[in-house]
Amino acid sequence: MATSKGIRYQDSVHTHVDALDERPPGKPAELKKLAALGIETVGDLLSHYPWRYADSREVTDIASLAVGRNVSLVAQVRSAEVKLAQRTGKPRVEAKVTDGSRTLDLVIFMPHRGAADFHVKRLVPGSLGLFSGQINIFNGRLQLANPTYAIFGHEIDEAVALEEAEWPIPIYPATAGLESDKIRAAVRSALDPLTEQDVSDPVPDVVREQRHLASRWSALRAVHVPQTEEDWRKGQARLRYEEAFVLQAELARRRAHAQREESTARPARSGGLLEAFDARLPFVLTDGQVAAGEQIAADLARAHPMQRLLQGEVGSGKTVVALRAMLQVVDAGGQAALLAPTSVLAGQHVRTLRAMLGDLAEGGLLGGSEIGTRVALLTGAQSTAERRSNLLEAASGQAGIVVGTHALLSDPVQFADLGLVVIDEQHKFGVEQRGRLQAKAANTPHLLVTTATPIPRTVAMTVFGELEISELRHVPAGRSGITTHVVPADNRPWMDRTWSRVREEVERGGRAFVVCARIDADEEADDGADGADLAPDEPTTVGEAQAAAQRAPKKPLRAVLEVAETLRTDPRLGGVAVGFLHGRMTSEDKDRAIADFASGKTPVLVSTTVIEVGVDVPAATIMVILDAHVFGLSQLHQLRGRVGRGSAPGLCLLVADAPEGTVAAQRLGALAATTDGFELARVDLELRKEGDVLGSAQSGGRRALRFLRVVSDGAVIDRAREDARALVEADPELTAWPALRAAIDVQLADGREEFLGQS
Ligand code: ADP
Ligand code: MG
Repeated sequence: MATSKGIRYQDSVHTHVDALDERPPGKPAELKKLAALGIETVGDLLSHYPWRYADSREVTDIASLAVGRNVSLVAQVRSAEVKLAQRTGKPRVEAKVTDGSRTLDLVIFMPHRGAADFHVKRLVPGSLGLFSGQINIFNGRLQLANPTYAIFGHEIDEAVALEEAEWPIPIYPATAGLESDKIRAAVRSALDPLTEQDVSDPVPDVVREQRHLASRWSALRAVHVPQTEEDWRKGQARLRYEEAFVLQAELARRRAHAQREESTARPARSGGLLEAFDARLPFVLTDGQVAAGEQIAADLARAHPMQRLLQGEVGSGKTVVALRAMLQVVDAGGQAALLAPTSVLAGQHVRTLRAMLGDLAEGGLLGGSEIGTRVALLTGAQSTAERRSNLLEAASGQAGIVVGTHALLSDPVQFADLGLVVIDEQHKFGVEQRGRLQAKAANTPHLLVTTATPIPRTVAMTVFGELEISELRHVPAGRSGITTHVVPADNRPWMDRTWSRVREEVERGGRAFVVCARIDADEEADDGADGADLAPDEPTTVGEAQAAAQRAPKKPLRAVLEVAETLRTDPRLGGVAVGFLHGRMTSEDKDRAIADFASGKTPVLVSTTVIEVGVDVPAATIMVILDAHVFGLSQLHQLRGRVGRGSAPGLCLLVADAPEGTVAAQRLGALAATTDGFELARVDLELRKEGDVLGSAQSGGRRALRFLRVVSDGAVIDRAREDARALVEADPELTAWPALRAAIDVQLADGREEFLGQS
């Protein structure tokens, strides 16, 4: 049962009897096959939607069929006969179907004569059918072997067939034992006896009237038994709205719920750490930072928990805004926890804070300032003694700020008075972890989440829907920006030029990152973002890289240790010092590698994607990404965000094995063409499957969202959100809408909780 912060929906929702909860009609053997598709009830069956519609009047052009493609074509049977194999005597059906001008061969192999005869009886010459399968070539002719097929008019009486001949034919996702036409028949016999009253509607009448939406029952009829194309399009539109609405209703409910919760107000105070920090800032805050800062300051001053997402371009200064929020809370007497995705980043945040706060970060030490506090660090790789003293500082309240990786989430970590949780670079954390950290406070703490890369607003509204959104639209002025080029890995002169550019940058005082997909040669793929410190359910990015690597197994991927070794003696680099960094090194070694890189002791750093998020070395001017084709687009954008942060322009060279026309080439081309992260995010989402966007719960098997596309259905999501918020305002726990609550429960079952996030 879905719970959220101890709220349980009343059990009445679950005893609510519905015709849709019953078993579908049909023979036991058929029911078993349906069950294999996850269909147990009438409701399941009716939400097994057609994946497309065939038009029985439109015969497919056989000339357009390509070898190797899976096709579903409408054609007319010309002939069908049984033939026997010469040697084995095994029967097969040979048939020809036509589109009126060309013919296509069909062959169906059968174990015995009776089964073959059965097919010949169905394949009556002159009848029209839908044939699905893979097109191959046999004896120089196109052939469809062992197709699944449905003859129109088959198994329904003639009068009906005549009437329905012109209707679109729904094609269902099928399995070997259960063809589309069988599913279609099962759906019809389940749907036909139902009336409008039998099908409860999660979209309340008030909303339906306002938006001129049909009932759920008529939408189901429209998608399963459409009489025109317009029917199924309208039906889909209504179901699409419903998906958005159910989702937004739950998000609105959670938001309202959180707003009613008590939290300690942490208003800004003058003469505190925040003012001292601001006074030491070496730059002026951008307008966006000021605006976001004001929104956050106001949220923190309220006695209800802030729930805010701060999103913006890589390098737009999100972290600075987050640090300022933390200091306001410390000034007000509370503690703030900052959850970072890698220990490298956690370490960097601690160094930034300590450097900027100076003696103010030595509170409690002899000679430390009076208003000071301490900054504690907690990562998985610390020694026991170190860890113990940091745990103590957190629990005693001595440390106003506790920075850490997911080690912060573990049980022994306690706070004296946790007032704010900041989750930096959110993409790296499972949403459930927010909840775990918030649970460490007596009173619900305020929450600030920052994104790793910009995401389109519609995605933010869906994935982080219960959060208010602040956006940083611009990067600070004075950045010279970054130029990106794709370098084909097999182009010798370009590669020479790449390495001599690295040398030139270093000679000019710059630093160079060289990014590899793997750590060492005999490893499958990189641990990239810091194996030991990573949230276990993490990263789409490394997974993406692995998947891409598996798709293109041609050449082994370059590895950090090997590349660092060869670069040291590479004449093109002229002997500059080369360091390396990867997730399997100890924290101290990592810190040293970054420090040596920053200081210029090793001006070239060969690294895995462990530097992907947040690493801030302003002198870095060039980045070479090897095997760039195996990385995800947002990951590459994030990576190149490491250079061009200072006053010198940045250069990013994507060394890739990406033949023209491949998706990888498209991705890299898009990246070279723009530095606008929002635009890239849009392109990325277009090139990827929806499942990847929403997380694993969405990609496997049945999906909560069948018709809604978060990338392109912004207008629908907007409307649904508006309606849902209005409904929740009037009725915060949706007591009056059992059907809506039941629909929410269904969406949250099957592990979809992950999708909504846990607030
Ligand atoms: P993000 O977290 O959004 O990627 P950061 O907060 O890490 O960005 O900021 C990137 C870099 O820009 C850091 O070196 C930071 O000190 C610097 N920075 C932040 N805000 C400003 C500003 N207003 N003007 C100049 N530099 C800034
Ligand atoms: Mg950051």
